[in-house]
Amino acid sequence: MKRVCMTIHNSLAELIGNTPLVRLNHVTEGIEATIAVKVEYLNPGGSSKDRIAERIIDAAERSGQLKPGGVIVEPTSGNTGVGLALVAQQRGYRTIFVVPDKVSESKRAVLRAYGAEVVVAPTDVSPEDPRSYYNVSDYLAEHIPGAFKPNQYRNPNGPESHYHTTGPEVWDATDGKITHFVAGIGTGGTITGTGRYLREVSHGEVKIVGADPEGSIYSDPSHVHQYDIEGVGEDFYPETFDRSITDDIVQVNDAQAFTMTRLLASQEGLLVGGSSGMAVAAALNYAREHALGSDQLMVVLLPDSGRGYLEKIFNDDWMMSHGYADVVEATRVEPMAG
Ligand code: PMP
Repeated sequence: MKRVCMTIHNSLAELIGNTPLVRLNHVTEGIEATIAVKVEYLNPGGSSKDRIAERIIDAAERSGQLKPGGVIVEPTSGNTGVGLALVAQQRGYRTIFVVPDKVSESKRAVLRAYGAEVVVAPTDVSPEDPRSYYNVSDYLAEHIPGAFKPNQYRNPNGPESHYHTTGPEVWDATDGKITHFVAGIGTGGTITGTGRYLREVSHGEVKIVGADPEGSIYSDPSHVHQYDIEGVGEDFYPETFDRSITDDIVQVNDAQAFTMTRLLASQEGLLVGGSSGMAVAAALNYAREHALGSDQLMVVLLPDSGRGYLEKIFNDDWMMSHGYADVVEATRVEPMAG
């Protein structure tokens, strides 16, 4: 009789983590080192933020901050919201996300589709204004019985989740041969947790390189200004980022990041977001500048999918009207001759 071997996971949350490493083969011309990327959009919620959501909720349950029937309230419009909503619905918690009104309707629709409630707050008010999205989320967290606010910029379980999952995964998948780890810095959780693990296990041999948008405080505190890359860079120092873990921070501008984002899709088959393009651009610049040889192995973390950016980075009209005509030109896919 034919034996049927079943692998059925108990819930989607079991599929968080253990994302693959893939070698880059085309955008790396002239670089001898191996550049491998960790593809985080293969997490069930589509980003690296699934990892922090799971650990933050586990910890809040253990400490009693989150009780059966509780409500998770967080100011977030993106990946963290999806991660929290996904884990929360599996465990029977309500989720309420407060988003600024500049957040697109399609992003709000994604959160609602996962069962979250979305509260929209005005963007053009000062952070101190009671209507600001930080204050609205504080108000809701204080007044809704059973509410818990994860606060991803302060919660130590963010970096911890990467220390316990992303770090060991990278180390094991490279048989301990990784020499450099590169990641963008938003809350800093990814680079702090993963970097700390890799440093410890390699006795300080693995170099930890941050990638940062031009305009963010991390690479140049004297020139903080607006930029278009989403999810990375800050105008303040969050508690979740331990700068002493980084050996270097490489600055990348919007145009360089968007060029690489488009090339990753058209040449490597990796439809990823702008912060992924930024991290790869930083990695390649670093590899060139330091003339990394063929014995070097760089791992670059790609946080999310390009699907959330189809109307921006992958839309030529948006790109042209936002000053990126050169990027569109440089990444044009030539029609086949013949
Ligand atoms: N890229 C994207 C798209 C993100 O949403 C985030 C998280 N804010 C990051 C990069 C940076 O990750 P971290 O917060 O762990 O530094």
